Parts: sequence; structure tokens; C-alpha cells
Amino acid sequence: MFREAVTVSKFSMILRPPRQIVNIRKHLSADGLHALLRAAFNEIPDHRREGSPISLVDTLMSAFATFALKDPSLLAFEERRNDENMRTLFRIQRLPCDTQMREILDPVDPEQLRPVFGSVFRELQRGQALKPLVFYKGCYLLLLDGTGYFSSQQIHCDSCLKKVHAETGAVTYQHQMLAAALAHPDYKEVIPFAPEPICQQDGNTKNDCERNAAKRLLRKIRQEHPRLKFIVVEDGLASNAPHIRELMALHMHFILGAKPGDHEFLFDQLTVAFEDDRVTTISWKVGDGQAEISFVNQVPLNASNPDLLVNLLHYVEYGPDGAPRKVFTWVTDLRITPSNARLLVRGGRTRWKIENETFNTLKNQGYHFEHNFGHGKQHLSVVFSMLMMLAFLVDQTQQLCCPLFRAVWQKLGSKRALWDHLRSHFRHFIFQSMKHFYEVILYSLATNLPAPSLNSS
Ligand SMILES: [Zn+2]
Repeated sequence: MFREAVTVSKFSMILRPPRQIVNIRKHLSADGLHALLRAAFNEIPDHRREGSPISLVDTLMSAFATFALKDPSLLAFEERRNDENMRTLFRIQRLPCDTQMREILDPVDPEQLRPVFGSVFRELQRGQALKPLVFYKGCYLLLLDGTGYFSSQQIHCDSCLKKVHAETGAVTYQHQMLAAALAHPDYKEVIPFAPEPICQQDGNTKNDCERNAAKRLLRKIRQEHPRLKFIVVEDGLASNAPHIRELMALHMHFILGAKPGDHEFLFDQLTVAFEDDRVTTISWKVGDGQAEISFVNQVPLNASNPDLLVNLLHYVEYGPDGAPRKVFTWVTDLRITPSNARLLVRGGRTRWKIENETFNTLKNQGYHFEHNFGHGKQHLSVVFSMLMMLAFLVDQTQQLCCPLFRAVWQKLGSKRALWDHLRSHFRHFIFQSMKHFYEVILYSLATNLPAPSLNSS
């Protein structure tokens, strides 16, 4: 194809990229992804009687549109019910009102939304878009972390976590989720999988609950992606024997945080290994200081699991005065060598991306993750949180794969400005597609567009 393009015309090659690249961009652009979501939502069985005036797929697309547009509340959604753009750009045939949306979505089992994330993921794979995120020996870094997004002493539902105050007996209702995402230290984008809601479990502490959620989530991910190679990256809560055995059974590699307070035995092993001269140390200059990695392979994780051997990776960054300013330790099943030690440290340190690039983005970059759009009695709160993560996945996919989205983002300077433009342009103009919308912003074409008719309903 390359040779053909050259023989036809030098310029045609520049102006018209090979057909397959055009297709990749189309499927991984907002318009392609919205069509994909509608088709995937359409597979979810409607729990209601036949002949309901508003379809489940329209309701799911409407809720998704609210999060894609970063509306601060369902009131804002209500105000655009007659907006032609909702029909054209989000492929919604009949929009629910906000009360209908809450009523229709409350009984939806959040588990039914998992395949929708899978559809987007498969499209990314098909477009070869995930290849740059491969980290080491064909493996992707799979980051896991939990976060809370709802807390109230009054509003609650069947799936709320209940925290009882030890002294006053006051009950606090909460929602938490365990998120999982692919990431790479060289890329800003993260690709989230469907998150796992952390639900009320009898008598368990929060950490038990998060650990159980991790077990459920990792099994689902393995089932959904039997051939993908992962290196699971988690914090110190995860570096316990049952979890490590679970990861091994799922054929997942791991780099897990370890803290001296939790792993006294393990750190004693490091001291002994130092004394026996079994530790390999490498060091290099970092800015005004010095970085140093010490590692030893095949040491027992703890005294009660002498058969469970891990490789210990210890990183220290010293300031110009020689005092340590950063210290991290991980356990991994990957054999550490002088040539891969620095890379594995980078892998372990990528964990902050799930906090910074995922949760902080959802909470502070316009997604309103902690806003209560409606709680419901059954699943509404969880359904909304999953649809918000889906909107984040679609945005991250565009950021990774759509040059037009990146150009608009660059022009406006921030995501927040992009979402502001999205909402204000929606109000004032009619677009033919999301591509049209991005082009209008990029080339400042807004003055040439028709304003929406007041009778467009
Ligand atoms: Zn609840």
C-alpha cells in the first residue's frame, strides 16, 4: 500500500493516509465510540415490561451523555432534553426526564455494564492502539486501587457500605469502588477496565472488603481477557500470601508495595542478604542527588509462608546531603537483574497514576465523581459511577487515538476549557457529528453555524 501511494502521487499520500489508518481513527473517535456504546447498551436486557415509552438503551445513552458533557447535575441534563445535538451526537431517539432516568436505571444490575467496557477495549485492541502501552516482555501494567465517592448519614440504598461509629452508634453510608487500569510510565493516558463496586459484606473491615473486591475483579479480568499478559501493580495492602497465591493462580505477574512495618521478616531477610553479600546494588545520579537500587531474588515473603518466594526490590533516592528523600520497596515474581531493575522500579512507581490520572481526574477535572446525581434504592449510585468511568474511558481513548481531539485540547489549553466549550457550543449551535463539533472549535467556525430552533422538540 505504501509503494502504491508513492507511485500515484506524493501529495495524495500526505493528504490521504492509507485506508486502514482512516478506519482506525474513525472507530476510536467520539462518533465511532458513541455508535459502539449504543450497540453494546442494546445488548443489556430491559428489566421492564415490553412497550415502555423510553427504551433502556436511550436512558443509558442519556446518562452517559450527562457524564460525557460533564454536566454538574441532572438539572443541566433536563435543560437539554429538547436539544437536537443529543439526538444527533449521542444517537438518542427519545430522552427520558431526570426522574425517568433514575427510575429506569435503579434496578439495572451494574454487572451488565461490564461488557460495554469490553467492547471499547476490543476496539482499542483491533486498532493496535494498546501496543505502545506494553511495558515489559509483552506484559501490560495493570494498576489497582480503591477509592470512596459517596458518604452520607441520611441517604442510603441496598448496596451502601455501613460504617457504625463505635461510641455514638451513628451510621455512615458509603460507596467505594476498586478501579483497574492499564498504564505505562511514558504515557499520560490510562485505560480503565470496568470497576468493581465494593459492597457491604457482613462483619468485614474496609481492607478485607477491598481485598475481596480485588479477588472478584482480577478473576473477572482474567476471564474476560484470557490471553492478555499483565503485571499487577498494587500498594502494600496487597503484598500478602493469599493474594500473591491468587495472582499466581491467575497467571498474573506482580509488583506490589512492601512496608517495613508490615514485613518485618522480609526486611530482616534483606539485612541478612546484605551481610552475606547476596544483594546486588546499582546506583546512578538523579538531579542533585543519587538513586540506588538494591535487590535480592528468591526470599520468603514471611515466616508463616516459607515456601512462597518473592524477589525484593528496594529503591532509595538520596539528596545532596546524603539523606534519603524517597524510599520504596516492592516484592515481585519477575526475576530482577541489573539490566531490568530500573525498569521494574519505574513500573512500581506507575501506581500513582491510578490515583493522580484516574481518581483525581474524576474528582477534580470536571467529572463530578463525588456529586450525588441520584442515589436510588437498589443500584442507581453504582450504575452512575460505572457510566462515569465509561465516559472517562471514552475520553482517554480519544486522547490516546484521536488527533482531532488532541488538537482541540491543545488549542484550549485544558480539559476543563474543552468541557466548557463543549457545553456552551451545545447550547448555541447544531452539529452534525462530534467530529464537526471538534472541527468548529479547532478552526473557530462557530459564527457560520445555525443556532438551534426553539421548537426543535
Ligand atoms: Zn447506597
